[in-house]
Amino acid sequence: MIIKIPRNILDEILNNVSKNKPIEAVSFILGYEKNGIYVAREIINVKNSLNSASEFYVDPNDLLNIYKKAEENGMQIVAIVHSHQGLPVPSATDIKYMKLNPYVWIIVSMTDLKLQAYKLNEEKLETVNIIISL
Ligand SMILES: [Zn+2]
Repeated sequence: MIIKIPRNILDEILNNVSKNKPIEAVSFILGYEKNGIYVAREIINVKNSLNSASEFYVDPNDLLNIYKKAEENGMQIVAIVHSHQGLPVPSATDIKYMKLNPYVWIIVSMTDLKLQAYKLNEEKLETVNIIISL
């Protein structure tokens, strides 16, 4: 699987992670999917309502606004981004929520700003290749 992310959206992802450090940052990526390729078009940063350095939660009202915005613009949520203090690999909690939210999950390490993308495919955790575009 592949997700294409424009450079300016990548910059915004990393910016938001740095700005919120050591709190876990959260963003949603809107876009579309075509032939198994996810294309990022827009980023929406949201508040981690737990204000925690080890977990995150998105207020249902924020989520509702994201759905509205996606629908108004003819897009869908393609990815959810959050940051970790350690390695950019999903925690057990992340995997639980990945089942309920079948998007691409992008995890960014606060330490070195390295990022990895994943998707659950029939209970199996798969790596998603990130392609940075202009
Ligand atoms: Zn996590």
